[in-house]
Amino acid sequence: MVDLKEFVQECVELAGGLAEPEESPEGGLLEVLVPEPLQPLFPNREVVRLALEGETARRHPEALPALPGSEALDALVEYASHLGRVTHAFPRTDPVRARPIAGEILHALTFTARRVRLPETSASVETIQIAQFDFIVSLVSDEREELLRSVVVDLWSGRASEALSRIVHGLEVNPTGPQVGRRDCHTVEEAYPAACEALETWMAPRIEQRQALVSRRLRDEHGRLRLYYRGLVEDLERRAERAGPEERRAEFQQKIEATRREQESKLAELSEKYRLRPSARLAAVRVLAYPRLFSTVGLDRKQTSRELEVCWDPLLARLLLPVCDACAREATHLTLELDGRLLCPACAVGNEAG
Ligand SMILES: [Zn+2]
Repeated sequence: MVDLKEFVQECVELAGGLAEPEESPEGGLLEVLVPEPLQPLFPNREVVRLALEGETARRHPEALPALPGSEALDALVEYASHLGRVTHAFPRTDPVRARPIAGEILHALTFTARRVRLPETSASVETIQIAQFDFIVSLVSDEREELLRSVVVDLWSGRASEALSRIVHGLEVNPTGPQVGRRDCHTVEEAYPAACEALETWMAPRIEQRQALVSRRLRDEHGRLRLYYRGLVEDLERRAERAGPEERRAEFQQKIEATRREQESKLAELSEKYRLRPSARLAAVRVLAYPRLFSTVGLDRKQTSRELEVCWDPLLARLLLPVCDACAREATHLTLELDGRLLCPACAVGNEAG
């Protein structure tokens, strides 16, 4: 769904190059006249063709794929980030001081293990970063709707956070703030594919709803059109019956055929007009740095021991839920398996059965 054409075009043009969409039946091809600042990205190439969609990349093996997660796109995002598209800010939080968070861990999480070793000391304060990707999402059919959707990716965990995405626009921020510690694990470029994936998942219900609405309108329009053409054909048929000589009748028959063909092409035209074409482009990236509390829980079961790092977030005023090692979903209940993995209840059942 993520249509990156405009982002790539803007990026190339800001750098002084040219990016022209190429005519191809499936779309998604961009011819780029590589400007000097982008030459390190495309060594020894003056012109490069970029494939912006998976299908296009398959059909045009000579084109360079510029898909989420591809080298070319990462390089462009990286380049854009140096053009000042990435801004930095520091959310205002109440002072985050080192304190024990064992009580909050007990309250929020349940572990199945022989022994659970809760942290006995204060949690440590570490500054982390989150990246806010602002996407402009366009839903184009017979109408056009544009909306801004922000996806926050936690650069500590590398995961998109729906909770942080919901509150990010209401945050008060300072222009300067604390230095980032060693906790920062992921770069903005690495986080970008996760943001695209989350955007697709989060937008899916809205797109489906919208598609249903558009489909209803299309059915109505189709109904009206069929009615109109049926009237035309019936009229021609009546006239054909009344027509005397054979050749006059054949003439009407041809007209009827032509009318039917016209109806088919009009129906196809309508279907195309009412097809929902969702796309998104990245408008801005903001990196936010703030402190969190970190602690470690130890878990033992038979010969297996495992440590789990948990953290408390001052913007959400709660613990961040850890994720299942198998399905990567957040879980409030984790079981230590004998193979050392921590699994959510659903995956733990599957693991026992397997
Ligand atoms: Zn799971």
